[in-house]
Amino acid sequence: MTKKERKIVLPGGKCNFCGNRYSVQGMSAHLKKCVEKDKQDQALLQNKIIKLSSIFHIVVRGECFYWLQIEADGKTTLYELDSFLRDIWVECCMHLSMFRINDINYSYSPMKEYDERSMNVALHKALKPGTRFDYEYDFGSTTHLILKVLGVRTGKIDKKGIRLLARNDAPEILCSYCDNLATDICAECSEWTCKNCRKKHECDEEMLLPVVNSPRAGVCGYCG
Ligand SMILES: [Zn+2]
Ligand SMILES: [Zn+2]
Ligand SMILES: [Zn+2]
Ligand SMILES: [Zn+2]
Repeated sequence: MTKKERKIVLPGGKCNFCGNRYSVQGMSAHLKKCVEKDKQDQALLQNKIIKLSSIFHIVVRGECFYWLQIEADGKTTLYELDSFLRDIWVECCMHLSMFRINDINYSYSPMKEYDERSMNVALHKALKPGTRFDYEYDFGSTTHLILKVLGVRTGKIDKKGIRLLARNDAPEILCSYCDNLATDICAECSEWTCKNCRKKHECDEEMLLPVVNSPRAGVCGYCG
């Protein structure tokens, strides 16, 4: 049985406000002028009790197919951003994590001897427009994300302080053995299989994990 080369097509995604679809590049431009997003933002501003703050527009890239666009209130902490990323993309078994911003390490569990800082720092203290920074989850089988601040505006978002603007559509990844879409990925050799070809795969069947829309698909015990 000859194995096929895995095909990679970078998926676009759907705007969470108007539902229109855009490519990865098109989404950043769209979000700046989405009419439905604007309506929601205006509605929040009607409420005069709330104070305005700096809202950070951040794009998050995982390996290959995966991307998120988010907005975060500048007063939220790196710790809250870490929980957001864990919830949506990476949490499998409470591994450690770290942000690296301008050569400073902000750790989930900071160690003074390594000069690490706590994640208990507000985004507006650590980030500026254009800041490109890194996030690592699990220092064994690491999932590495690259983040960039696309812009900062004055406004208000809901109480949670971080919201999802858009994310990539689930990538269509083909089985390594046939033309069906893959349903499983092997945690040992990273091979993709469909239901029919599970048996052709050589590693132990227990190593197969479900295909999920996350850069941690197939890593450790990640099931989405
Ligand atoms: Zn939109
Ligand atoms: Zn794990
Ligand atoms: Zn197959
Ligand atoms: Zn395998």
